[in-house]
Amino acid sequence: MIYLDNNATTQLDPAVRDAMLPFLTDRYGNPSSTHRFGQESRQAIEQARFQVAELLGCDAKEILFTSGGTESDNAALHGLLAMRAPRKTLIVSSVEHSAIREPVQALAKQGHRIIEIPVDLHGRFGLDAFKLALQNTDVALASIMWANNETGTLFDIRTLGELCRKHNVPFHVDAVQAAGKIPLDLRDLPLDLLSISAHKFHGPKGTGALYIRRGTRWQPWQRGGPQEHDRRGGTENVPALVGMGQAAELAHLDLQKDSAQIQSLRDRFENQIHSLIPDTHINGDLENRLPNTSNIAFAGLEAEAILLLLSEQTLCASAGAACSSGSLEPSHVLRAMHLPDRLAHGAVRFSLSRFTTPADIDAALAIIPPIIARLRTTLPV
Ligand code: PLP
Repeated sequence: MIYLDNNATTQLDPAVRDAMLPFLTDRYGNPSSTHRFGQESRQAIEQARFQVAELLGCDAKEILFTSGGTESDNAALHGLLAMRAPRKTLIVSSVEHSAIREPVQALAKQGHRIIEIPVDLHGRFGLDAFKLALQNTDVALASIMWANNETGTLFDIRTLGELCRKHNVPFHVDAVQAAGKIPLDLRDLPLDLLSISAHKFHGPKGTGALYIRRGTRWQPWQRGGPQEHDRRGGTENVPALVGMGQAAELAHLDLQKDSAQIQSLRDRFENQIHSLIPDTHINGDLENRLPNTSNIAFAGLEAEAILLLLSEQTLCASAGAACSSGSLEPSHVLRAMHLPDRLAHGAVRFSLSRFTTPADIDAALAIIPPIIARLRTTLPV
């Protein structure tokens, strides 16, 4: 298999699995138990918290463990809103993941006002629209993603955060696609909350974290027992948290080296595709992009057909967000970029990881051109 769908999910690092195993077998104590067996699990969780904090460049006390990116995003929005009444306006970008889009749309139905900041043809953020939106006195929060899951486009979080600070607006950042791929030094950044998810950086699925800057006015979203210092009820998923901690440590350790290597593979892949296949276009902001993501439009084709033939040759990629695969409509991200139909319909996302090898790229380069040539002769849109 040639796996080029790492923005959907990543392979569990074998070292992460090894770290998790004892907690799936012998070390099953409840971290809330006061006996030593339970307290060993507690220590393992606190170690994981420290490892995640190191990756993010923040204090361990600022890390709240969650069940993943979706919960972190929901908890950020609802937890902030609860403290900002009566303000009812939320500022988001037009290219957020559904983990933000869906709760925001539900809030709109409940009477909240949503201001969507547009992007341009390259997916670049509409800074002027953001400045204008912040003039509003009713703004409860701004929630903007760091890296786009489909195109890899990066937004200038520092500038956006500084603007939010100026207007005293709490700022949440969805960094699910950024964590483990680019350096995030939160101590030095003007943002209040930030979401990450372990399965995007070789950790287990169903596990994530919400960074909550010390002093941020935020209300717990999931209530129950006193876990997570009364900030999220529910017995912790100890093996998964241990796995996320280990994954964070590994990502932190080799971030620069890994991302340089991934980017050089990605660039070789794109250059070759570009020279081997006519009428191909790279989508997104080529100046500010994740090192691992390549969103390529094969003009005039349907991405679904391309993916099907790629999958027959055991090459895994995706069209738009994984969850919108199966529908023929271009994703909301490509729509928001106002990509012409002949490009938007044929856009395929290839995403690499530190486990992607030069041989994977060579194999992909052997598979893709004949498939595109075949589709262009048989299936023009
Ligand atoms: N935010 C972004 C930008 C994502 O790419 C994803 C997942 O693809 C999520 C949030 C949701 O994360 P999770 O799958 O951990 O719920």
